[in-house]
Order: sequence, then structure tokens, then C-alpha cells
Amino acid sequence: MNSPLASGATIGIVGGGQLGRMLAMAAARLGFRTIVLEPQADCPAAQVANAHIAAAYDDVDALAELARRCDVVTYEFENVPIDAAASLANGPVPLHPPARALEVSQDRLTEKTFLNGIGIATAGFRPVDGEAEARAALQALGGAGILKTRRLGYDGKGQARLSPDEDAAVAFRQLGGVPAILEALVDFHCEISVVAARDGKGNLAAFEPARNVHRDGILRVSSLPSGVALATEDMARAAAFRILEALDYVGVMGVEFFVMRDGAVLVNEIAPRVHNSGHWTEAACAVNQFEQHVRAICGLPLGSTARHSDCVMENLIGDDVARCAELLGEPGVVLHLYGKAEARPGRKMGHFTRLAVR
Ligand code: AMP
Repeated sequence: MNSPLASGATIGIVGGGQLGRMLAMAAARLGFRTIVLEPQADCPAAQVANAHIAAAYDDVDALAELARRCDVVTYEFENVPIDAAASLANGPVPLHPPARALEVSQDRLTEKTFLNGIGIATAGFRPVDGEAEARAALQALGGAGILKTRRLGYDGKGQARLSPDEDAAVAFRQLGGVPAILEALVDFHCEISVVAARDGKGNLAAFEPARNVHRDGILRVSSLPSGVALATEDMARAAAFRILEALDYVGVMGVEFFVMRDGAVLVNEIAPRVHNSGHWTEAACAVNQFEQHVRAICGLPLGSTARHSDCVMENLIGDDVARCAELLGEPGVVLHLYGKAEARPGRKMGHFTRLAVR
């Protein structure tokens, strides 16, 4: 990394959702400007950024314009087309995190192969490219598993849970017959995640692991402290750091883990961006994950990851958003809404963090 970006410099953000919105807000607090590239008009990030380039993520001219108008470019979702990331990486300004992190995280098979290759344990898995392979994989994994499309799955989409009496071939067809993997069903004790950062000099920092509860494949609640053994938390942090180093990563990453009954951890997946399970940091840490990302990509010192309060973060999904007024009446609640007009089922509308008042 060259010298730190000075206040007034411009950060390009590919993607205009709530993560981009919160990145833009953190950037503004440090005196930076932001430009969002996102096809959707009036998206959450564009509402708070300095400028909005309304274009497709793979629009070559729009990507070139973004690079021309910015001093550094980042992204807020992992499905940025690889060609777009490559063109940004070869452009006039740095792209952080690196395009390689997108490549790895966009494909569940590549991701698990990469993780196992650097000595990090995951659920057992088999690639599935056809119906016969689906049946064989289910048998090989002991009759139970989760069939997941290799690409473009999120929040539990593109997944089918399989038990021994189910025909894996039918499930494969129902998922569209696209390349998939069958993962062994993990009998985990709980789930935790680590939001960790690496700067351009190789310095590392991690927020405390959060304990996460998912429902229907969507994160609902993250709690701190996690309640798992400190040795388990240390293993999770060490795994996250190993991943950041292996990718020569700059920025913040979310790493999701299954905690086994013996305290061991398996990585479920990595997200090369700020992460929903790190939203609690905006209420319970002096430097939140969004500012940490901005610091890392702008060549500024990483901030403290210390937590000042116990807390529970909850997502407001769909109609949950109607709870807002009531939540605002509660002391110790920090509310964050994303500026989305329509509360559709399954749509993340906001979140709140309830701080344990000390
Ligand atoms: P994913 O989209 O892969 O992160 O999966 C969403 C959620 O589904 C996870 O956070 C777990 O709660 C559950 N899940 C995913 N994969 C497995 C697995 N192999 N075994 C058990 N539960 C899983």
C-alpha cells in the first residue's frame, strides 16, 4: 500500500445495498467521498453517497468511469462479476479486497478446496454435476446432506436439505441442474463468525466472534459474548487470519464457522466484505466494521476492535420493520434502517443492537 489517502479522497463502491450504505456513512465520517455503482435507482447506498453511477456491474464504460473518478475501489457484495473485478484490478487505482477473494468466495467448490488447501477444516463435500453424481454423493456422505448450487446462493437460497429417503437426483433437478456441491450435514453445537481485517502492510485485527442464529437460512441474531470457550474463539480468529494472509487480502472479511461439540471449528463460508454478523460493532465498539474496512482500504491504521458492552444484534426482516417505533422507545437500543421503500418477506429492512446497559 502506498501512502494513506487524504481526507477528501473518493472511494468507489460496487454494489448499492445496505452494506454499501453503511460503508459510505463510515467513509463520510472520516472525510472521504463515495461513488456507488449500482443499477437500481434510489438504492440504499446511493441515498447517502456523494454520487451514483446507475449502471450494470459489468458495464465496462461505467467501471472505467468509476475508476477514473475514484482513488480506491471496493465492493459490498461477493457476486461482482469476475471480469468486472479484473478490469478494476488492472485499472488506474487499487481494488481492495483483491479480485482473487471474489473468485474464491463465488464458488462453493473453489472456496472449500481453497480452505482445505491452506489447512482449514470444512464440512465434508462432494462436487455434483449430474443426477447420478448427486445420488452417489449422498450415499458417500452417509445419506444426509445439503445440496447447494456452487454459485449465486445466499441467505439459504439455492439449497436443499436431503435425508436418506430422498432422491438426490430430483433435488439436483429442482435446483436447476446447475453445478452444485453436496455438503455433509454438520451436527454443530452453535454457529459463530469472525469479522477480521488486514491492511496493506499485513497488520491484522479481528472483532470478537459473535454467536449467530439463522432461521430459514437467513441470519436473525448475533450475540456477544459468544459464550463458546476462549480456545474455540482463538481457533476461529486464527483461521480467519490465515485466510486473510493466504489471499493477500486488504479490507474486512466475514468468516462463518460451525462450532462442534468438542469445541473444534469448521469454516462454513467466507464473505470478502463487511458482514451482517458484524453490525453489532457499530453499537458496541469505538471503531465499527465499516470504518475498519475504510481504514484498511485507504491505508490508514486499523482501529481498536475492543468491545465496550455485551450486546445482541437482531435483523429486521420484512414486516419486522413495524417494530421500529417501539424499539426506539427502549433505552440501550441502537436502530439502523436501510432506506428500503417496500418491506417484502425475507427482505432485510434494518437491524438493531440492544446494548446491555452497564
Ligand atoms: P449458507 O448459505 O451455506 O451459509 O447456509 C446458511 C445456514 O444453513 C448456515 O448458517 C447453517 O445454519 C445452515 N447450514 C449450511 N450448511 C450446513 C451444513 N453443511 N450442515 C448443517 N447446517 C448447515
